[in-house]
Amino acid sequence: MGYRLTTTRFDKYLTNLSETFDIYAPVVQKGKGMYSDTEVVGYGKITCFDEIVFDKKSYYSPKEVFYPIRETLFYFLNDELKEAPLDIRPIILFVRPCDINGIMRLDTMFLENGGIKDYYYLRRRQLLKFIMIECTEGFDTCFCVSMGTNKTDQYDGVIRVQDEKILFDTDDEKLLTSALEENPKEVFTPRFIEENKVKVTIPEPDLVTKDVFEHEIWTEYTQRCIACGRCNTSCITCSCFTMQDVKSSDNDHLGERRRVWAGCHVDGFTDMAGGHSFRSKNGEKMRFKTMHKINDYYKRFGTHMCVGCGRCDDVCPEYISFSKCINKLNDIISEGGSND
Ligand code: SF4
Ligand code: SF4
Repeated sequence: MGYRLTTTRFDKYLTNLSETFDIYAPVVQKGKGMYSDTEVVGYGKITCFDEIVFDKKSYYSPKEVFYPIRETLFYFLNDELKEAPLDIRPIILFVRPCDINGIMRLDTMFLENGGIKDYYYLRRRQLLKFIMIECTEGFDTCFCVSMGTNKTDQYDGVIRVQDEKILFDTDDEKLLTSALEENPKEVFTPRFIEENKVKVTIPEPDLVTKDVFEHEIWTEYTQRCIACGRCNTSCITCSCFTMQDVKSSDNDHLGERRRVWAGCHVDGFTDMAGGHSFRSKNGEKMRFKTMHKINDYYKRFGTHMCVGCGRCDDVCPEYISFSKCINKLNDIISEGGSND
């Protein structure tokens, strides 16, 4: 089943959905680009079809919609705690298959890792519905096909935009409104991208030995990476955060606890009490991220963490390519894995 809509009809449908949901999609964010007066595509609230950007990849991932960059968890006064109220309505997210798979990776980290469900993640996550943007072309740096994340059935609705025609399908009762059902029916089956320009070969996890960790490949990244952390903040699967207690200036016992995104590439990420810190060289940080994305997460959960969205390649000011790093690593391991 599916429905054929004009943009006017789709706008009416979105207006209808807006009574219950806040709707987020890739949009043009003017003035938020790398240089003054430039724009970037990121996730923002929409009210009409024309605001949605279908022909460009979003520079930032959709994770900030439901996993805020900074979130107050609770307020404290002496021995008393008060949970921060949830400040959002149910959300519809227009999202591509790789990002849906990425959100599943976040779910694993927050809801399955260590046997404890992260309460603050869950209370936002369960408000989400996905409208999958059919993605059959991909973009220059994507390698979702190599990662097996080009496909998914974890969506509540799907949209195909073809010339002037919009096809939309859902069997979710909250999305199946009268403003949708009054449109002509047209059956369609979602298609997925079958080939990217970029291909990676992931080294067999068990072949990654200590020699590989000590290989000189990582010194190249010490020279090139500037530890800006953009690759972490743009990544749909990076989930790390740090905690901050913000106290009132009048009363040390009054304040709030926040969690704030953190990233393994950023200086200070591994600082410990007493002044010790791990991975001081930027190449070591790159190694840590690489192994987490394509080795140890897999050993623990059975899927690779990286979903091949290619955003880390897009955003790196030093033109460091993660897909090239994976392939270089695979070549090294194929040749025996040592510096000799
Ligand atoms: S590591 Fe890079 S390609 Fe992989 S999911 Fe993160 S941003 Fe996307
Ligand atoms: S975006 Fe590039 S330069 Fe910045 S931390 Fe990541 S790899 Fe290093």
